[in-house]
Amino acid sequence: MNRRNFLSSALSAPLLAAQAGNDVSERSPQAPASLPRPRWLEDGLIDAGGSHEGFLFTVRRGGQRLDARRSYEHEQSEEVIRRLKSQGVEVFHTHLYKGFGMEAEKSEMEDARRAAEIAHRHGLKVDSYIQWNTLMYETFFAEEPRAKDWVQRDISGKPILLVYGYQQSFRYRPCFANQNYLDYLKKIVRYAVEEVKTDFIHFDNFDLNPEPDSCHCPVCVEGFRSYLKEKYSVARRKERFGFENVDYVNPPQWNAQNPPQRMQVIFDPAIQEWVEFRCEIMARALRQMAAFAKGMNPEVAIECNPHGITGGNRAWEAGLDHARFLKSTDVFWTEEENDPALASDGRLISKIRSYKLARAFNNILLAYIAGHPLEAAECLAFDQTLGYAGEDPLRPHILEYIAFYRRNRDLFIKAQDAADVAILRSYPSITYNNARAQLSAILAEQALIQAHIPFSLIFDEHVADLSKHRVLILPDSECLSDAQLASIRQFVDQGGGLVAIGQSGLYDEWRRVRTKPGLADLIDGQKRASGYEERVGRMEISGKSTKKEVGQGRSVYLPGLHFDGALPEMANYFEIDNRFWKRPKNWEDLVAAVNWVAKDSLPLHVEGPEYLVANLTAQPGKRRLMVHLVNYNARKAPLPAPVALSCRTPAPATEVRLYSPDIPEPQAIASRNERSAVAFQVPPVKVYSIAVINW
Ligand SMILES: [Zn+2]
Repeated sequence: MNRRNFLSSALSAPLLAAQAGNDVSERSPQAPASLPRPRWLEDGLIDAGGSHEGFLFTVRRGGQRLDARRSYEHEQSEEVIRRLKSQGVEVFHTHLYKGFGMEAEKSEMEDARRAAEIAHRHGLKVDSYIQWNTLMYETFFAEEPRAKDWVQRDISGKPILLVYGYQQSFRYRPCFANQNYLDYLKKIVRYAVEEVKTDFIHFDNFDLNPEPDSCHCPVCVEGFRSYLKEKYSVARRKERFGFENVDYVNPPQWNAQNPPQRMQVIFDPAIQEWVEFRCEIMARALRQMAAFAKGMNPEVAIECNPHGITGGNRAWEAGLDHARFLKSTDVFWTEEENDPALASDGRLISKIRSYKLARAFNNILLAYIAGHPLEAAECLAFDQTLGYAGEDPLRPHILEYIAFYRRNRDLFIKAQDAADVAILRSYPSITYNNARAQLSAILAEQALIQAHIPFSLIFDEHVADLSKHRVLILPDSECLSDAQLASIRQFVDQGGGLVAIGQSGLYDEWRRVRTKPGLADLIDGQKRASGYEERVGRMEISGKSTKKEVGQGRSVYLPGLHFDGALPEMANYFEIDNRFWKRPKNWEDLVAAVNWVAKDSLPLHVEGPEYLVANLTAQPGKRRLMVHLVNYNARKAPLPAPVALSCRTPAPATEVRLYSPDIPEPQAIASRNERSAVAFQVPPVKVYSIAVINW
């Protein structure tokens, strides 16, 4: 594709997800029109398969059982579909397209269409698997020789592969800046919507490879330069790079002495912009596909599979900025390996962060929840629906959870998260310094999770309006824009509580050192920041927390959250994986700070062990609150004792009832109203209990 074609296609799509705080003139003046949301998803979903693998792929991959063909036919048979329906499943997940090209897959796509007909006849919706990110060149090139120009190429021109062990080198990654590939993918999407009459599209493998495996094809190189010109005026380009002509700027190149996976802080403006360009390419391609599908049928749900919050630097590594692309999805998948558990070394592992990410963008998260009842409990408590129940045959405890959910669904439908505390996950802070800003965010989240303090995750764009929160936590949110700082100042002036940690506000959104610290008048005790460093060392954290009253609000400055024990060695790309997911040593300082800036008025108090995690939701129209309690030690033991709670209510409570998959019937609970809260005690939680407070 020539440059003009590229400009008139990919780059003419409206810019997505303006990152709040950046100069508005640097973004498209055209606000992205929101895509229609399927109404049928408003009540949640129960999805199960079936299998997403076609037979062709099973054969080409190798190592299959000799009866693989029979399994393939069985997985989409009426027998399986009827059984899933009788078990309460509502959406049937099945294969459609894996990346071999439409010609090669035609007969299996016809099979998928027939299975969809059966599912629809039995009153199920259909969830169709479409491979986003694979071009199996052996068959694809035979069908479409032009596709040689559609694959991602590294700096030396070699095709970029998916990374499945040693043996799937037949899977090239297509380039998402290449409109010709996207137009091809649209043919598959059209088939899914018009022929299969699908209700739900699952785009698998939604990511890019980390550097040095980024696409250097001509479309990307030219596209990057065009993007810089589209985004910045001449004057701003000069401010950004020192010069204005970006026609010779290349994607970053690496050398053996300086492998990208050991780069700790990203200072280089061109690398920062390249990271964002990769995120933008993915977001725009998905947007285009979602708009195309919903243009044919607005009730089609769009889902992709990018993982949630893993502690990895997703923008830098994978070209993924959730805040950009979750505006094009209704649902997304995480296959992160953070199954809920209390580890023997005291770490509490969870997918709570990913669920909160989904809630922040009005999405539903799908995850594997069939391994243990604790996984299904976590999902119900934080996702407010079950999502993905597994593959036929479903496991007995999942059937119990499906039955519990369907019996008590009313408690989950349109329930809003009722947290007073917000934690900011700042894109530039985390992307440019994952080792510090991600660690700080993870530790802050961990402290609140284990102190039973419900919280929301917010992202850059949400800083523009903080009015619905009482407390804002900035976990080393280093890179804040002038607009964000102004909004935070106004929030505190008007009575909000601010807890600023570490380097918060010391840099602007390009990570340039502010000459006056951004939060200077709001907090006391913060040290100055350092600028460019050739070799970035570990920063020691010292000093005490400092309180301050500002306007009608309060602030606390915390110099840092301390990892409890010896900090694990930082892995490649400085990923803060679950080896770091431990309650910080000074967690009590953070909890005390949150309580002080909230003027001791947080809505929920739970007297339970630190592995009992709480979520608070509300259905104001039904005049009720739900306290979800999940025992993260459930793989080993139920709670040893009853739990005392108190919960703020808008009016005196009239009744408290306990619901749980662990008890046969809901129970009334004795309670007493005290000032503006209701106090009660729940019996020892086995895996999952919900206290429902009517007022
Ligand atoms: Zn490319």
